[in-house]
Amino acid sequence: MTSREIYKTAAIVLSAIDYGESDRIVSFYSTDFGKMKGIAKGAKRSRKRFANALEPFTKISLTFSRYRIGSLAFVENCFVEEHFASIRGDFTASLLGAYMVELVERFTLEGKPMTELFDLLADFLFLLGKANGNPERIVRIFEIKFLKMVGYEPQLSFCVRCQMPIVQEQTALRFDHTRGGVVCPSCQSDGRLLACSAGTRKTMLAGRDISAEMAPRLFFAPLIAKECEEIMAVFIRYLLGKELRSVEVLRQVKNLQRALPAMEVSNL
Ligand SMILES: [Zn+2]
Repeated sequence: MTSREIYKTAAIVLSAIDYGESDRIVSFYSTDFGKMKGIAKGAKRSRKRFANALEPFTKISLTFSRYRIGSLAFVENCFVEEHFASIRGDFTASLLGAYMVELVERFTLEGKPMTELFDLLADFLFLLGKANGNPERIVRIFEIKFLKMVGYEPQLSFCVRCQMPIVQEQTALRFDHTRGGVVCPSCQSDGRLLACSAGTRKTMLAGRDISAEMAPRLFFAPLIAKECEEIMAVFIRYLLGKELRSVEVLRQVKNLQRALPAMEVSNL
């Protein structure tokens, strides 16, 4: 019988579901192996062995074994490096954290490691945990950096229809999610395009280029925050061909908060 090789890597849990009587199937993004799936045998029975390490967006030190590259990993051990308690203590932030890991899970392929993507996710989960009161803008910056990293950077420098460079003074821009970029005033012949003011374009460019350390200083005026959110939501849904589960939950919670402003939604 072939024996299993043992590996060790830093990883972030993307998702986990119960499997059978006592196991859990877990999806990770790891520094050394990229996205990978593993089974934690007995995880439901042996809470002590895995503690709270197998919850979404926990950063762990993972030891696993497998027969060969590409085969299912057996989770041997995991040690929690960062549980992000401050994210979990905030209802909205925890939904946004779930959204960030779901993005990574959907846009990446197994066995294609990108250390910079692991670092981006870890850095922005850390920032999300410290984003007191305004976690959404951290996620907006994450989205644009993430899309650039996985090869879907929105085109903000020239019009995606006529290819003319966009100049600073052009204010009445729009965004065409089917072509992944901005549309100049001369090319806006249909009404399906999304609003993209000059400030929104400028802020998205700044978000793309800003370092993680400086990201909390990037200011989003309310109109810019709204436009960025809509552009990203529509563009990402278009790229994936469907809505992300976490986005659906976020939308339901926001609707509920609007409908019941006095209610403590975080207690639901
Ligand atoms: Zn144009």
